[in-house]
Amino acid sequence: MTNKINFSAGPAMLPHEVLLQAQQEMLDWNGSGLSVMEMSHRGKEFTSIAVEAEQNLREITDMPESYKVLFLQGGASAQFALVPLNLAGDNDLTNYINTGSWSKKAISEAQRLCEVNVVASTEATGFTSVPGQDELQLDADAAYLHYTPNETIGGVEFPYIPDAGSVPLVADMSSNILSKPLDISRFGLIYAGAQKNIGSAGLTVVIVRESLLGMASSKTPSMANYDIIAKAQSMYNTPPTYAIYIAGLVFKWIKNQGGLKVIEALNIKKSGKLYQCIDESGFYSNPVAINCRSRMNVPFTLANPELDIVFLQQVEQEAGMIALKGHRSVGGMRASIYNAMPEESIDTLISFMQEFERTHG
Ligand SMILES: *Cc1c(COP(=O)(O)O)cnc(C)c1O
Repeated sequence: MTNKINFSAGPAMLPHEVLLQAQQEMLDWNGSGLSVMEMSHRGKEFTSIAVEAEQNLREITDMPESYKVLFLQGGASAQFALVPLNLAGDNDLTNYINTGSWSKKAISEAQRLCEVNVVASTEATGFTSVPGQDELQLDADAAYLHYTPNETIGGVEFPYIPDAGSVPLVADMSSNILSKPLDISRFGLIYAGAQKNIGSAGLTVVIVRESLLGMASSKTPSMANYDIIAKAQSMYNTPPTYAIYIAGLVFKWIKNQGGLKVIEALNIKKSGKLYQCIDESGFYSNPVAINCRSRMNVPFTLANPELDIVFLQQVEQEAGMIALKGHRSVGGMRASIYNAMPEESIDTLISFMQEFERTHG
C-alpha cells in the first residue's frame, strides 16, 4: 500500500490494484521481456495495449459507434483552445456556461479564437450553484455550447445534462468523467485530463462525435487537429504510452468493480457521508447549494480559519491524510474523493474531523 491517504485534486490517488499490477509488470509486460515504457508505440505489444484500453473505455461508457476516442497530450488546458480551433471559425459564435474557475479559463482561451457568448454565469453569487436549464439563453446558431459538469475548485457539479438543442454540447469532464453512467449520445465532444479519474498525468482523453471532425481551418497545426489525430488512431506522433497503459488498467478496474452504476452508487454513498458530517457539525461548513454539491471534490471551511494550519498539521501527522488544503481561491479544506478513494478512508477522515471538532470546536 502507499502509506498515505491522498485527497489531492490531481494528480490524484490511483486504485491500489492498478498500482500493484503496474508494479508487477514494470520489468516484463506480459512475457514480452520489456517494460511498457520501452516499447515502440507502433509495435504489436503496445498496439494491443492501446486497442484494449479504448475497447474497455467504450464498453464501460456504452459508447456509440459514431464516436471517436482520441488519446492526446497537453491536458484539459490545451483543449480550451483545441475545441474552438476544431469546432468554430474565427468569426463563429460559441456559447459558454460560467460556473467557476475552470469555466473561466476555458472562456478566456476561447475568446482569443472566436466569438464567445456567456449564456449563464453564477459568478455574482460566488459560484455556489449551477444555472437551471430555463436560465440558459442559447444562440441557435452557435457552433457549440461548452460547460464544466464538475467545477473541481468550487466543488459544484451539474445535477443534469444541459439540453443544447441542435447545437453540439461540449463538456470539460476532467474531474467527474467515469464517476457515473454517461449518455454519450447527448454530447458532441467530451474531454478530460487523465490525472483525476482516469490515470496518470500526461494523457488527455477526447471523445468526439465523428460528424464533428474535419471542420478545423487549414492553419490548424496537425497536432491540434482532431481529424488528423483520429485518422492516425492517436498515433500521429508518439502518444503518452505509459499513461495510456495506466488508463487501460483503470478502465479494466472499473469493469471489474461492476461498471459505472456500481461506481456511482459508491460515489453517492462516499460523498453523502462526508456532506452529512459537515452539515451535522456546528463547526464545518460547505457553501454549495445542496442539489449541485460535487461528489468528487468536497470543499469545507472551519468555523475558525485560524485553526486551518492546526487541522492540516494534525490530519497529516496523526492520521497520514494529505493534500486536504483548499484551493487558495476558496480557502479552508478540500477533500477530493474520486473513484479510487476507498470508503474506509472517508470514514477515517470523518472520524478525524469529529475528534478535531470535539477538541477544538
Ligand atoms: C484539472 C482540471 C483542468 C486542468 O487540467 P490540466 O490537465 O492540468 O490542463 C481543467 N478543467 C477541469 C474541470 C479540471 O478539473
